[in-house]
Amino acid sequence: MSLNNAPVNNTSLTPLSSLGEFGLIRRLTRRARLANPSSCKGVGDDAAVLDYNNGKKILVSTDMLVEGIHFDLAYVPLKHLGYKAVAVNASDIHAMNGVPRQITLSIAVSSRFTVEALDELYDGVHLACERYDIDLVGGDTTTTRSGACISITIIGEVAGEEIVYRDTARANDIICVSGDLGAAYAGLQLLEREKRVLDGQTLARPAFEGHDYILERQLKPEARGDVTRQLRQASILPTAMIDISDGLSSELLHVCNGSRVGCRVYAEKIPVDPRAARFLEEINIDPLTAALSGGEDYELLFTIPLAAREAIAALPGITMIGYITPPGDGCNIVARDGSLVEIKALGWTNFKSDD
Ligand code: ADP
Ligand code: MG
Repeated sequence: MSLNNAPVNNTSLTPLSSLGEFGLIRRLTRRARLANPSSCKGVGDDAAVLDYNNGKKILVSTDMLVEGIHFDLAYVPLKHLGYKAVAVNASDIHAMNGVPRQITLSIAVSSRFTVEALDELYDGVHLACERYDIDLVGGDTTTTRSGACISITIIGEVAGEEIVYRDTARANDIICVSGDLGAAYAGLQLLEREKRVLDGQTLARPAFEGHDYILERQLKPEARGDVTRQLRQASILPTAMIDISDGLSSELLHVCNGSRVGCRVYAEKIPVDPRAARFLEEINIDPLTAALSGGEDYELLFTIPLAAREAIAALPGITMIGYITPPGDGCNIVARDGSLVEIKALGWTNFKSDD
């Protein structure tokens, strides 16, 4: 993996000014195909035209990514950034139990970016769109004095009776998570460490070997539409659902506070991939802490009625980690030694603020 993906001053690359705004838009969107019946008119007019006259509810979500805050081009390849930007938006639609259909993508970049750099960004965008059956139907293109900003608005659909909110969990529901947690945080720690190496702050050589899994979890997260599809096929309608973008603790608090209930989650049941655990232990971070407070895993956290327990147990890749309690009981984690630890707003040990 190259760590030098930031746009560079290289005369073989094409300045944005050579294409002009419309030439650039044409180039970036020439591969946009409309595959969903709800996409009537995509890029090219003053507005996209969508037809959702199918009795379903429409879901809309927007996310903005700012260079230096949400991504660092010193180690995030632009193609991955484009892919991830689409995936994390799709994740929001899945978290409502919906199906993503269209995105608009707006970019603001400085003249430091070349046409080739934006081609790479859009390679990732188109790849994710193809993978998730999402149509790119519009956007906006503008400039900044410095830095880059990417904003995506995503539109999806869901049958009214299948919408799942985050604030509707009930006492005795079982709490489930998809996949595993903490690996994206582990990947970020690895990238940050290797960036310090490249900056000359330490003498060690960059060492990504054997860390494909955690790097991929950080750089190329997947939206878990496969999980909501699986649940639908098994006729399981979650009582509440949220995607895990900021760490399990924070999302559990959103669900519990919003639903006015408490929870009891078992530390030993929280799924952490051994590859992530190994790296985290190497750098002296408790894997459980990473799972609770790390973030960016984009797995789904959901609750199901007790009656769906057997049906859930039969599904691969889903772990039951605890249950919802009545409001007075608070939000607690049962540690490995059996003691109860209250879940705090910033996570288990709030390590984010001390590093
Ligand atoms: P307007 O001037 O009406 O705002 P633009 O010239 O900004 O229109 O955009 C022309 C068309 O190209 C519109 O359909 C718009 O949605 C689309 N578009 C503009 N920028 C992008 C982009 N970065 N990615 C995808 N589509 C874009
Ligand atoms: Mg415009």
